Amino acid sequence: MSVLDVLRGAFSLLFGLGVLCWVVLVPVTASAQTGSDTALLIHGGAGGMSQDAMSEAQQRTYKQALRRALTAGNGVLQDGGTALDAVEAVITTMESDTLFNAGRGAVLTSQNTVELDAAIMDGETRNAGALTGVKTVKHPIRLARTIMTESEHVMMAQEGAETFAEEHGLEQVKNDYFITERRRSGAGDDAHVQKTAEKFGTVGAVALDQEGNLAAGTSTGGISNKRFGRIGDSPIVGAGTYASNESVAVSATGQGEFYIRSVAAHNVASRVRFGEASLPEAAQAAVEEAEALGGVGGVIVLDPEGNMAMPFTTNGMFRAYVDTEGNTAVRIFGAQEDGDM
Ligand code: ASP
Repeated sequence: MSVLDVLRGAFSLLFGLGVLCWVVLVPVTASAQTGSDTALLIHGGAGGMSQDAMSEAQQRTYKQALRRALTAGNGVLQDGGTALDAVEAVITTMESDTLFNAGRGAVLTSQNTVELDAAIMDGETRNAGALTGVKTVKHPIRLARTIMTESEHVMMAQEGAETFAEEHGLEQVKNDYFITERRRSGAGDDAHVQKTAEKFGTVGAVALDQEGNLAAGTSTGGISNKRFGRIGDSPIVGAGTYASNESVAVSATGQGEFYIRSVAAHNVASRVRFGEASLPEAAQAAVEEAEALGGVGGVIVLDPEGNMAMPFTTNGMFRAYVDTEGNTAVRIFGAQEDGDM
């Protein structure tokens, strides 16, 4: 056997091993990629918070809270859970966190009570559940989902919604549970948050699961000092919350009256579906349209391919995401001023 034959033999062996590795490993990597084709965007409200007036420690506290909620929802998606389950996991986490204007820690009405609004929507079926003016349901987003799955209705209000919650065994609490010292003392938010921000702080999430389905959810106490009985955009399908696999999933935050009048969430969906706008263009145009009517705020938007946008017309928006590549960011202000955590 010549030296050349030995080299040729060694080459064939290495080539064979290479092909074997390729055959065995490529499907494994491919399926791992499929498994991570999920995405999750969350917000904790848009407002006039100013970077100068917010200490590093305060920013860190909000970012940690956002990251906790993001991790809860992303865990669901990574385990193969549905987009609806992820949205519910994010929002229940934020409803329990007194930093946000949803569930415990929600803003007070002019009568010093808490009245909660929430909605959830399934992008696959366009089924939706929503409630408004609820005072005793610990997790409004769970009630929204129960209305969606256990009733033939989409939206319920006040005592009717509460009776439905009771009948379906959802946890109920006294209205006092929701009222924190921070809200009672009229601080609205910590001193760092300027007056306009006091009116915001809603929470929301949009998710894309491994099956390629979208979902959206929003939960809020509305705007502070609102008249009792006032309803914002958050629980209104198409205004504050919308999801369709044919276009996008959206959750909005901001001055609800203007988001209702511009039908903000559906505005984004229509621009993508009928207007052939790119997703970031559509999202930007929708927040600008609401602003032109007189209302500031923001939206988080996701499509079935994992394209996403989080524009806002306020100083800041508490927000975080995990994209389809697994990149994560947690932000409050503009991307440039506000490095990732
Ligand atoms: N959009 C909510 C409402 O008007 C408030 C907010 O997003 O902070 O009820």
